[in-house]
Amino acid sequence: MRTVEHWIAGTTADGSSGACAPVFNPATGEQQAQVVLGTAADVDAAVRAAAGAYPEWSQSSISRRTKVLFAFRELVNARAMELAELITDEHGKVLSDALGEVQRGLEVVEFACGIAQQLKGEFSDQVSADVDSTTYREPLGVVAGITPFNFPAMVPMWMFPVAIAAGNTFILKPSERDPSVSLVIARLWAEAGLPDGVFNVVQGDAATVDAILDHPGIAAVSFVGSTPIARHIHARATAAGKRVQALGGAKNHAVVLPDADLSFAANQLAAAAFGSAGERCMAISVVIAVGSAADGLLDLLQREADGITVGPGRVTGVDMGPVVTAAARERIVGLIDSAERQGARICTDGRGLTVEGSEGGFFVGPTIIDRVDPGMEVYGAEVFGPVLAVLRADTLDQAIALINANPYGNGTAIFTGSGAAARAFTRGVHVGMVGVNVPVPVPMAYHSFGGWKDSLMGEHHVHGPDGVRFYTRAKVVTARWPQPVEAASFDMPTAR
Ligand code: NAD
Repeated sequence: MRTVEHWIAGTTADGSSGACAPVFNPATGEQQAQVVLGTAADVDAAVRAAAGAYPEWSQSSISRRTKVLFAFRELVNARAMELAELITDEHGKVLSDALGEVQRGLEVVEFACGIAQQLKGEFSDQVSADVDSTTYREPLGVVAGITPFNFPAMVPMWMFPVAIAAGNTFILKPSERDPSVSLVIARLWAEAGLPDGVFNVVQGDAATVDAILDHPGIAAVSFVGSTPIARHIHARATAAGKRVQALGGAKNHAVVLPDADLSFAANQLAAAAFGSAGERCMAISVVIAVGSAADGLLDLLQREADGITVGPGRVTGVDMGPVVTAAARERIVGLIDSAERQGARICTDGRGLTVEGSEGGFFVGPTIIDRVDPGMEVYGAEVFGPVLAVLRADTLDQAIALINANPYGNGTAIFTGSGAAARAFTRGVHVGMVGVNVPVPVPMAYHSFGGWKDSLMGEHHVHGPDGVRFYTRAKVVTARWPQPVEAASFDMPTAR
């Protein structure tokens, strides 16, 4: 059985516990590897490696750091297919989608290649006689990233390119469900010339995470995962004096107005709901059909869902792979059952789907549930599977009110032909990322990504300008040159 190890100080390490967790292939249901589970001692070893590498890396010139970033970009680009295949084998998503994930991660690396532009400070000349002020930003030290299963390459790449380009050293704790890609990334960093100890990986689960949160040698923690864990991360790491950004779960609503191109909307929404088997934090999981849009839209959505090919992610022509674990499938099917019990109508039913030749795989077919109301369990939960709930509203204002009553605020979208309606929507919703005729409005790397309300705890969004701010802190220098000609005063300094 292949064992996925830690990466500490430029080499693999099997850790101190001897405990391992299974890594499955969701398309077959079979265990394909095991991953070591890091202890507090393993976390400490990674912190010591990262702290040892920090003085040299943080003091290296911007041009030296960006040379490594450019080399890393080339290597990831050249090895994108290898990374995508690993993602497909451990996560289950189709290969083209896995390649898309690598591409979106690469865009953050490319953003970080331009860190020189981001780190330009501010300068004020002659703030007092012969006195100038400069503000610039310095790295924080050792920082950590704790990431979810659903984007094993992209979400870590939201974090470490910016952190490392800014001069920090980094410890990644990947998801234990699909950990292998993290080690390929570590080797690519080494090949790109990153000094040992600047990028480390500690594999593990909740106990490993808690050791990271409590370690006094870690200055900041970035987390992406579900909301209950995000709350835990934020509370515990903040209590330990760390800077924290903790991105949580989502329940993303799309509103379809009667003036929208319904065929276009249905086609876009089916891809947004069922792509990656709905296991995206920006997946659309709720459609609010306004007024007369409902019936036409529902027919079109069902037709789109019927046309989806479900199967192993490596097979050409497959649109949607399995969900990540048997437990995830049971949970999703249980939520569909609950909707049926509570009076919703299952229009397209993905329960009980078997894929010929992959009978052991964790498959759930595309599912559309109509006449859902906000009191139902399927509406309250983050399903995180290929399930689209349809609600109805009489007006756009009612649709906006529904979205704003939801505790999550990650993404949302409107489909309409009206600029005025789109403007009212974008201004009215309490959500961090909004699409207009764009169902999955994931910002490019040079903008920042983040939700509102229960979808993010902390001040900063990830990557883009907010990412740079998160991984650096400001220093302001007030300087007088040449030597003062007068004696120092004991009074509060004031401008002359
Ligand atoms: P998860 O919260 O179960 O796990 C995320 C990370 O936390 C993993 O590394 C895991 O090992 C660790 N963890 C799990 N339980 C823990 C505990 N009790 N204490 C400490 N650490 C723990 O999330 P997941 O199932 O891997 O990923 C899916 C979730 O991530 C969904 O809720 C999805 O919406 C969310 N997500 C959010 C975003 C975003 O940008 N907001 C992006 C991707 C995924």
